[in-house]
Amino acid sequence: DDTVRHLRRQHGIHVHGGTAPPLIEQFDELRHLGVPDWLVDNLRTGLKYDGPTPIQMQAIPALLEGQKVIASAPTGSGKTMAFLVPLITLIKGPGKGFARILVVCPTRELAQQSLREFDRLRGSRKFRGRLVDKINFGSGDEGVRRVDFAVTTPLKLVQLLRDGKVTLDGVQYLVLDEADKLLDMGFSPQLDEILSHCTHPSLQPMLFSATIPPAVLQLAESIMPAPLHISVGVDNA
Ligand code: ADP
Ligand code: MG
Repeated sequence: DDTVRHLRRQHGIHVHGGTAPPLIEQFDELRHLGVPDWLVDNLRTGLKYDGPTPIQMQAIPALLEGQKVIASAPTGSGKTMAFLVPLITLIKGPGKGFARILVVCPTRELAQQSLREFDRLRGSRKFRGRLVDKINFGSGDEGVRRVDFAVTTPLKLVQLLRDGKVTLDGVQYLVLDEADKLLDMGFSPQLDEILSHCTHPSLQPMLFSATIPPAVLQLAESIMPAPLHISVGVDNA
């Protein structure tokens, strides 16, 4: 409708390829979309965010609906919280399995940053986040099993998969983060290998990137037919 279209234009948000839900302009509106009060309170009083960034305005409601999303917005515009807020909501509480949420990042440093954001957002809630690396996975299986949020680089995860140290059949939400960089760094074969292990019947994949060059588009289309495209700023899709 016209109001929603006007709001999108005002915030520089473009959507195509699917039906996007109305955007939110304030975190408080998330309460009506099923986001728990503690999470909204944490955004506002814990993290002291005034309100959602444009990518968060549109991506959070879309992901909460279960949509497969390809999202682009400039570096530093809050893409991490754009997927963390809906995904923590969707997994509801801490669980027993390994990596219901799996985030693949191009570098270890970016992976650590995502984990830090996850820890800030969960606050005192007992969700468990893990960086997938040698130290965390060298010491037997016990530590491997109970992880709600696993964040990894492609090479590390492929190595663990080949060694039979982890399985990805419990992954319900797969995030390819900084996808342009993942492809620039030549990780396409590793991504294919990781994807072939994500066999959950209701897997919700999503892709976040600063830019959407053709190779990223192709990657997105290979893992999710007819995704919803959300882009903020220059529409480079
Ligand atoms: P991107 O992935 O788009 O490059 P990040 O997710 O790394 O950006 O976020 C950049 C910074 O902005 C982080 O420090 C993050 O905590 C902060 N941030 C995220 N969302 C908001 C918000 N709604 N208001 C203020 N700061 C935010
Ligand atoms: Mg990012």
